[in-house]
Order: sequence, then structure tokens, then C-alpha cells
Amino acid sequence: MSAQYDYDLFTIGGGSGGVRASRVAAGYGARVAIAEASLFGGTCVNVGCIPKKLFAYAAHFREDFAIAASFGWTVGEPRFDWATLRANKDREIARLNGVYERLLVDAGVAIHRTRAKVRDAHTVEVDGKTITAQHILIATGSWPQVPAIPGRERAITSNEAFHLERLPESALVVGGGYVALEFASIFNGLGVATTLAYRGQRLLRGFDAELATRLGAEMAMKGVALRLQANPTRIDPGLRVAFEDGSAADYELVMFATGRKPNTAGLGLEAVGVKLAADGAVVVDAYSKSTVDSIWAIGDVTNRVNLTPVATAEAMWLAKTLFRGEPTPVDHEIVPTAVFANPNLATVGLSEAAARARFSEVEIYKTSFRALRDSLSAGKEQTFMKLVVDSASQRVLGAHMIGPDAGEIIQGIAVAVKLGATKAQFDATIGIHPTAAEEFVTLRERFLG
Ligand code: NDP
Repeated sequence: MSAQYDYDLFTIGGGSGGVRASRVAAGYGARVAIAEASLFGGTCVNVGCIPKKLFAYAAHFREDFAIAASFGWTVGEPRFDWATLRANKDREIARLNGVYERLLVDAGVAIHRTRAKVRDAHTVEVDGKTITAQHILIATGSWPQVPAIPGRERAITSNEAFHLERLPESALVVGGGYVALEFASIFNGLGVATTLAYRGQRLLRGFDAELATRLGAEMAMKGVALRLQANPTRIDPGLRVAFEDGSAADYELVMFATGRKPNTAGLGLEAVGVKLAADGAVVVDAYSKSTVDSIWAIGDVTNRVNLTPVATAEAMWLAKTLFRGEPTPVDHEIVPTAVFANPNLATVGLSEAAARARFSEVEIYKTSFRALRDSLSAGKEQTFMKLVVDSASQRVLGAHMIGPDAGEIIQGIAVAVKLGATKAQFDATIGIHPTAAEEFVTLRERFLG
């Protein structure tokens, strides 16, 4: 740490990655400042993970009320009030903004509530003034990207979906990734006539194909109108959407969930020698260092694995590298993840196709069943579980699930997969009965390939 500079670390961006890196670095004794022009917490807290999950809970109540009757409960005609949900959500998010800010203040991090720009390898410009730092961290996240079709300005993205004045009667959600599936499920659960249009044949590119296909079928069964190989080409006034196949339909709301782009424009990075990829992402090495020795980047702005827990892990590894004398490369292997659609989908490790490409022979174990909770009602949702195993070593390469609490269950399974557990070790584990999760340690039906 050097007295030659105003700070040891200057962080640009107060989202999950930037806040974590700043306060951990300060905890290691570094003199840290952070610039954030908007609310602390970034996408995850303000227009991502947290409000999304609150909305997903809200949407799920529709089914919960229906199931309650099968357990003998009489619930009157359920009515949903969007304004109440939105206001309660806003209050909770404001509380979290305050928590994030307080964590920084308590850690001794200097806060600049404004945009910052990089001037040279050790200098940032903040409100027309220059501040020097031994290290500069770019943690500016990403922003929704909308395809350049005529009328795109008539559509919204997830940013606006969190603040809608009122819920529409009908909605078109475009895309086949996390955000599209989660919002299609949210709208559908809240009673909006929802269409999901995806340009490809199979949702969730890169995920296990069987899992993705099954999730689409489950969502369709729950009422989402699923249009595959359907891509909008224009949006006319009145929200009439024309599709590639010549069809057209009217919606009250059109939302694009077609990916996100790293936030690097206007930061002055290329002028100081920081290399950007074609999509604008900061190019970094295994330690999150950019092509300039004193400038580092973590989180979505690097477009590696764009998930909050990955950004916070990158943040902690970076703080260790810079201020604890423990150079720690980023570990992006075996990252568990969940799509909070209805039903939930969660996964860790290799898909069946990825495993087959890398290993000479794999064994597949899978099961599907109706959850006990649904057994007294007409609920048809199928819980699905799948293990992908390397035949030679018997290591479990991937675990995949669709069903209630899939994220909670796969988080636990991920520890075993990360540790390299074998199928026999899964089998030697006693199940907890009656749960859905116990199926992961009692899978017997083997499919060779
Ligand atoms: P994703 O990259 O997951 O999905 C983007 C989707 O949009 C894909 O289906 C893609 O299709 C499609 N698409 C891209 N460009 C176009 C286009 N020009 N026209 C039509 N369709 C297009 O992005 P999301 O916006 O859903 O989410 C961004 C990231 O945020 C995710 O990748 C994830 O990392 C993170 N996230 C994580 C969540 C979680 O952990 N639960 C929740 C939400 C987001 P194709 O596959 O054919 O390219």
C-alpha cells in the first residue's frame, strides 16, 4: 500500500462485486473509495435477483391457494393487488440500499455518489476533480440489450418491469434465457395472459437439453403461451408485434429479455490502454487484471459468468490478491445456478451433452415424479432430477433438477459435485424422508451412452 496515491483502491460501481471488493479490501487495511451514481446494490438488489425473487414468490401464491383447498382449507376468491406488491418491494429494496451503504461506511470506505471516469492508470476523474489510486477496480456491471428492430422503443426491459404502473392484461416476453423465463412465469402467475417468444428451438441455450425442454413444457402446462422459433421483426403503434414467420399479434406490454451488455461506454478505458472485447467487456486475466497492470475488473462488466455470487467471489479473490499477499486466481469451475421460473430449475456441473463431448462414456440417472404436496390435488407438475456420471471414474459430473426449491436443493448437491463425489458416495448417503431431494441419493435407473 502506497502513500504516493490518495487511495489504495478506487472502485467504480457499487453493485454486488464493487461493494464486496471495497469493504473486504478496507477490512484488510486498504484505503478505499467507491463511486456510484445510482443506488447501492446494483442490478441484483435494485432490478434483478432480489425484487425478481419477491415477484416470483408473489406469482406462486396462485398455485398455493389452489392446493390449499385440497388440504381442507377454504380460501375466498384470491385477489391480487400489484400496487401493494410493488410498494412493499420498493420499501424492502430501499432498506437494502441503506444496508449496503452502511456496510461501506462502517468499513471506512469513502463514498462518491457520482459517476467516475478513468483518466490514466492511477487516476480517476470524479465531479471534475482527479483522485489517484494505486489500483482502480471497474465493477460497472451490465445493461439490458434490445435488438435493433423498428419500434423497439415501445418495448420495455427488466429494468422497467420492476416499476410498472399497473399490470397489463397481456404481455409478450422475448428471449429464452434466465430473465425471459423468470418474467414469463411471474406475469403468468400474476394473471397476465403471457406469451414467451424465443428465436430458437430450445430454451436456455447451454443448459442440459432435456432439462430445458421439460421446463418449457411445464411452463406451457401452467399457461404460458410458448412460441418457439418466433422472433419479432417490428413493433407498431398499439403494440402490434410482427414476427419473422409473417404472423402478428397485439399485446398490452412487450418486454425484451434478450441478454445484457457490459457497461464500459464512456469510462475512458480504451484511451488508457484497457483492452475491451467486441461486446465491450473488459478483457481480464485469471486474477481479474485488465491489460493495464493497475486496473482490474470483476462481475458482469467482464462477461465471464454473469451471476451475483460469482461477482462477489471474484471480489473476495481480488481483495486477497491485492491486499493480503495471496494471489488468488478466479475459479469458475462448477458454478451452480438456478432459473427461478415456475417451476424452478437448478443445475450444477456438466450437461449431458457437454459430458458426452468430454468423456468417452457417461452414465445418466434420472427420475420424474409428482411431488407429495400435489398428491391430494389435480396438480400435474413433474419434478425431474438427473445425474450425469463419468463411467470410468464414477464421478458425478452434473446434477440437474426441475421442481419446487430446486435452487435450495442443488446448492447442497453442488458441494458434493465440487468435491468430486462419486455416484457410490451419493448412494452411500442416507436420504431424508419424505423429501424430493432424497431422490438424488437413491437414483437407480441407469441410461448408458
Ligand atoms: P441470457 O443471455 O440468459 O439470454 C438471452 C436470451 O435472449 C437468449 O435466449 C438469446 O437467444 C436471446 N437473444 C439474444 N439476442 C437476441 C436477439 N437479437 N433477438 C432475439 N433473441 C435474442 O440473458 P438474460 O437477459 O436472460 O440474462 C442476462 C444474464 O443475467 C444471464 O445470462 C445470467 O447470467 C444473469 N441472470 C441470472 C439470473 C439467475 O441467476 N437466476 C436471473 C437473471 C439473469 P440465443 O440463446 O438464441 O442466443
